[in-house]
Amino acid sequence: MPAPDAVALGDTSRLPCGWFAIDDAGTILAVNPALVRLLGIAAGDLVGRSAESLFTLESRVLYTAHALPLLKLRGELAEVTLSLHGTAGPVDALVYARREPRGDAAVSEFVVARLHERKRLEDQLLTARRAAEQVPGIVFQCQRKPDGSLGFPYLTEAVRGMYGLAPVQLRAGGERLFERIVPGQRDAVLAAMARSAEALLPWRAEYQVEHPAGVLRWHEINAAPRRQPDGGMLWHGFIADATERRALDASLRAQQVAESASRAKSDFLARVSHELRTPLNGILGFAQLLLIEDDALRPAQRRKVGHIAQAGHHLLLLINDMLDITRIEAGKVEVSIAPVDVFDVVQECVQLATPLAGKACVELSIDAPCGCRVLADGNRLRQALLNLVSNGIKYGASGGAVCVAVLAEPERVRIEVRDKGPGIAPEQLGALFEPFNRLGAERGPVEGTGLGLVITRGLVELMGGAIEVSSVVGSGSTFALLLPRAGEAQ
Ligand code: ADP
Repeated sequence: MPAPDAVALGDTSRLPCGWFAIDDAGTILAVNPALVRLLGIAAGDLVGRSAESLFTLESRVLYTAHALPLLKLRGELAEVTLSLHGTAGPVDALVYARREPRGDAAVSEFVVARLHERKRLEDQLLTARRAAEQVPGIVFQCQRKPDGSLGFPYLTEAVRGMYGLAPVQLRAGGERLFERIVPGQRDAVLAAMARSAEALLPWRAEYQVEHPAGVLRWHEINAAPRRQPDGGMLWHGFIADATERRALDASLRAQQVAESASRAKSDFLARVSHELRTPLNGILGFAQLLLIEDDALRPAQRRKVGHIAQAGHHLLLLINDMLDITRIEAGKVEVSIAPVDVFDVVQECVQLATPLAGKACVELSIDAPCGCRVLADGNRLRQALLNLVSNGIKYGASGGAVCVAVLAEPERVRIEVRDKGPGIAPEQLGALFEPFNRLGAERGPVEGTGLGLVITRGLVELMGGAIEVSSVVGSGSTFALLLPRAGEAQ
């Protein structure tokens, strides 16, 4: 390593900024007093060290990968911002360098100028501007001079895409931006600006603009006003594209209208159903009385009254089912969820369905473990399961069998109602839960409304469960209720 004086460098002791010289191996040959002061490290501790070690980790990468190769290539380096290790913490500096051949080797001299506050502010401003450019929409500063003329001293680049104008075109002559607003709405936007200036309240407006691509887009402007000493006004704010948001708002409003119409319909149906039941009970009651009295009717009359009673009974079933559906749809069915012993519910349902099974000569069986519990509303679960068991009996071939099986999975429990009936054709499975769709059963002898499965599904979903169906034509169907599993009873 050559001694500093052997390098024959100029006098750097009076330089107002740091200075050091290195050889081509990167070893520091000499430093000046200003660098010693800047870093707070003695000259003796600096000379002989690798210059790389002067820099903080990030800057070291910049120094070795960028600054040094450039210096070797061009012979000089200007205005690279690097951070050096100082005893009082990192020192940000602007670094300049020059490399000069000395015989076979070369010496590089570095000048290190502490970053001034101004440069730091410039960096901050640059960062803020870059951030503003990332904001979706236009960030702006809008000025209204005392003579009423408009200008945008600052506008982000997004104005090109949204208005087809360059920021520089609007610096003076800001009116051009407002000329893009569809004519009928322009005055309202400028009137909102005037009101904002008067009341010193935010300037807010929504308006349509003919987009450079030729389509109309909704924009919203939102800016805070500030009065200027010369009597002018300055707003800081942003313009955002509100087209998608407005479309979303409109569809939400339409959905709310539809929901409230649907609620009104459900309320009406619930009331009508309720009102129909009272007179219907009268009709049914008197028809039953006529049928009970042995000698009240001739055989032909008895048959006719029998039809009245049957039709009335069907109507009552329909009204009850409709009442159930409308109450479920209107969210008026309350469920109280608690751990329910599945075996108990299955047993009760099978008992309740036994008379129906007896009439249809269907054998009922249970395949369920004891102690398995689900989170459900006991009464609603019974209603849903009974519906499925009744269907299994009604639509399973006479003389067949229906089995209620319970399968406990880790998270949930499947309660399956399996029948050995004719099954359901795959193309009909999709229509199974359509209200009033009886899949052709209306032409057969089995009484029904086509609403049972809709109610069952509604109830199960209210309890946080689901219903699944699988069926093989000729072999039978399986309807499964899936419910969250509850912990075992203590
Ligand atoms: P309903 O029994 O009052 O007609 P549901 O909603 O309970 O109404 O059932 C709708 C239709 O689905 C029935 O009419 C019947 O055609 C068919 N279905 C329901 N359960 C079964 C089953 N286990 N096997 C075959 N078909 C069934």
